[in-house]
Amino acid sequence: MIAMTTDNIVLNAEPSGKLQAIEQVGELLVRNGFIEPEYIDSMKRREEVANTYLGNGISIPHGLPENRNHILKTGVAILQVPGGVTWNPGEIVNLVVGIAAKSDEHIEILTNLTHVLDDPATVERLAATGDPSDIVRALSGEAGTSRRPGPELDVADFDHSVDVTVMNPHGLHARPATFFLDIAKLFDSTIVVEFDGRSGNGKSLASLLKLGVGSGRIIRIHAKGDDAMQALNALKDAVDAGLGEIEEEKAVARTAHGWVPSEVKRTIPGCTASPGLACGPIRQFTHRRIVVEAMAKDPEHELTELGHAVAAAKSNLRMLYNEVRSRSGEPQAAIFRAHEAFLEDPELLAETKSRIRGGNSAGYAWRQVIDDRVRAMEQHDDEVLAARAMDLRDVGRRVLRHLAGVLQDEPFTSSEPVILVAEDLTPSDTALLDPALILGFCTAGGGPTSHSAIIARSLDIPAIVAAGPTVLEIEDGTMAILDGDGGNLYLEPSPADVETAAETRKRIEAERDAEYRTRYEPALTLDGERVEVAANIGKASEAEKAVEGGGEGVGLLRTEFLFLGRETPPDEDEQYQSYKAMIEALNGLPLIIRTLDIGGDKAVPYLDLPAEDNPFLGERGIRLCLNRPELFLTQLRAIYRASMHGPLRIMFPMIATLDELAVGKRLAEKARIEVGAEPVDIGIMVEVPSVAVMAREFAKEVAFFSVGTNDLTQYVMAMDRVHPTLAAQADSLHPAVLRMIDQVVRAADEAGIWTGVCGGLAGEPLGAVILAGLGVKELSMVIPSIAPVKARLRSITMKQAREIAQQALACVDNNQVRALKLP
Ligand code: PEP
Ligand code: MG
Repeated sequence: MIAMTTDNIVLNAEPSGKLQAIEQVGELLVRNGFIEPEYIDSMKRREEVANTYLGNGISIPHGLPENRNHILKTGVAILQVPGGVTWNPGEIVNLVVGIAAKSDEHIEILTNLTHVLDDPATVERLAATGDPSDIVRALSGEAGTSRRPGPELDVADFDHSVDVTVMNPHGLHARPATFFLDIAKLFDSTIVVEFDGRSGNGKSLASLLKLGVGSGRIIRIHAKGDDAMQALNALKDAVDAGLGEIEEEKAVARTAHGWVPSEVKRTIPGCTASPGLACGPIRQFTHRRIVVEAMAKDPEHELTELGHAVAAAKSNLRMLYNEVRSRSGEPQAAIFRAHEAFLEDPELLAETKSRIRGGNSAGYAWRQVIDDRVRAMEQHDDEVLAARAMDLRDVGRRVLRHLAGVLQDEPFTSSEPVILVAEDLTPSDTALLDPALILGFCTAGGGPTSHSAIIARSLDIPAIVAAGPTVLEIEDGTMAILDGDGGNLYLEPSPADVETAAETRKRIEAERDAEYRTRYEPALTLDGERVEVAANIGKASEAEKAVEGGGEGVGLLRTEFLFLGRETPPDEDEQYQSYKAMIEALNGLPLIIRTLDIGGDKAVPYLDLPAEDNPFLGERGIRLCLNRPELFLTQLRAIYRASMHGPLRIMFPMIATLDELAVGKRLAEKARIEVGAEPVDIGIMVEVPSVAVMAREFAKEVAFFSVGTNDLTQYVMAMDRVHPTLAAQADSLHPAVLRMIDQVVRAADEAGIWTGVCGGLAGEPLGAVILAGLGVKELSMVIPSIAPVKARLRSITMKQAREIAQQALACVDNNQVRALKLP
């Protein structure tokens, strides 16, 4: 039991904001001997990774788990803020309950808090009271309201239940409980949690917290309904897996450079996409100009297009809403619900349709209607209404993007290096960036294995993605530090932080320089086995850089970048010149040209690809090429003509069936004969699980395999590689992916062909060692990873690599694999 006295309470506080409130409550914890002053900083940093607003005017700031050494003894301190302090937009706090918890004793306070939380009248009274003992009584369970037993839930007619131990170090506190109820809410069944003779509704936070479940205690979960068994299985798995708390430790552990800020005004968390630190002013990137034809011939067609565009925009908005809600909560996400409401406005749609019937194109009609409305709203005296004009403009643009006949991208220009912020960057946006002007970039959407993230890594630009729409509101010129390893954007850092970040950058650069100096040495393991290390490139100019960077050739040329960001496809001659230039730049080193891999997150307006519900499962890669033989044959002819100038191999992407391979090979042969070239090796990417499973059959038909771990991972794990919340779990080091690769390598060995890997895993030091240990002969990666991967492979024996690979195969999940120590 935590003893609480009036010394733990400060009444009538008036903090200027959340950080000052945390400081004041932290100082109170220090004064009472609960914590060392260093813990206050940790409490502030926790807010950057988690929201401690509990609801109903109460917040419970506390520090990060790794700083628990600064807690002297368990205790709580309370700041009463009668005027309220904004915790997050729309979340006003009157009682700030600072918690220092050495173990799980604070659960008791939390349990009492939930009784208060249930009862707005009590909070109102405590927020205004002039007598601190009122607060002591309420929170220590003496005030009548606090020990009020909740109505017991009767589980007599529940058929299914499961017992499970809560292993979270601090029991079922607010965050794991929220995680629990988020899962419970996915099921229709009624869920009740029983603990210590009491029971609570499994879909209510207050109810779960009220149970006061400590660490190591067993709870019984009951479920009633059609999906009761599924619900119990999912909840048991979630509790066993730590209810989301392990993720946080992992995220912290992954920050390779170890830099953390000491004082920043604001932190925006996102997902890591490309490592490194960048420091500089923010610049928003909104240069996309959407051009639409004014008139259209076929109003019926335009009306259908409008319907599709509005539906697509609604589906984007729903995704954004879910994403932001799961990350930051309902108040922040609500704006997207409001945006969706605009799209259901009957007047807006009726006016657009009437203009379409009058001869305008859907895009033009929509833009006119939106512009008129926006202008009218902007002139409104009511400030709130005027502010909504921004929202309408935003929604208007979203629909227009779907309707646009022509997308014209203007390259980004700037007079000084900046941290670029954008809603999202398409691969062609990213490809147009001048790395000299971009210190780092941060996008509101996107995912870590999306193509923009890959390009960021290849340009060696620190980047974070999926940071949510608030980043779009940062003013140009705001100073920031972008931490690509930790996945955070820090705004307005202190001069001291700018200095330590610069020092960290210098240290990283010194380490990189040492590796870079030995980049031309082959990746020979200590026991003399060689692994070929090649580069992934996307344009002619990078071939030279690949060689300069230590690449022993090009293991993946993504030819689609020749097709992106333009209005017509490149003709045979343009492609031929481009491939030839690369061959010349490589000067005899091998080049693997992958045929066009369009679709998925790589859209090409002039190909008129139909909108698909699941583009990653739709017409992409070889499927698209086989459906458009002229496009494919033009490329194949260009490749065969280029093959007369130096060594190259052809690789087909996204192969799923033996039939596709046979047709692809037939078309290649046709093109070869047409241009009169010699045969070249034809291989395939292993990206679809069907190929890995049938690798023996495929191995008889091709000269080599190259595993695309980015796609293979998304298809094996059924997790979209650009999904803002799932993408982080779609980890290529998952044993399920590694076992597939193992199977592929063994089938290739049996057939006497070689296996390479050109997905992102090849460029990670641990991934490269495991892949080498599995028998992969060639690793192809973004240019900046070549020198460090070669250095890593030179530091171990192949025997050690094989041992690590076997350990990885025996693991049960990616966290276990990531925890393996390299010698
Ligand atoms: C992959 O899927 O791993 C791959 C290398 O191809 P891309 O990233 O271009 O889809
Ligand atoms: Mg791929």
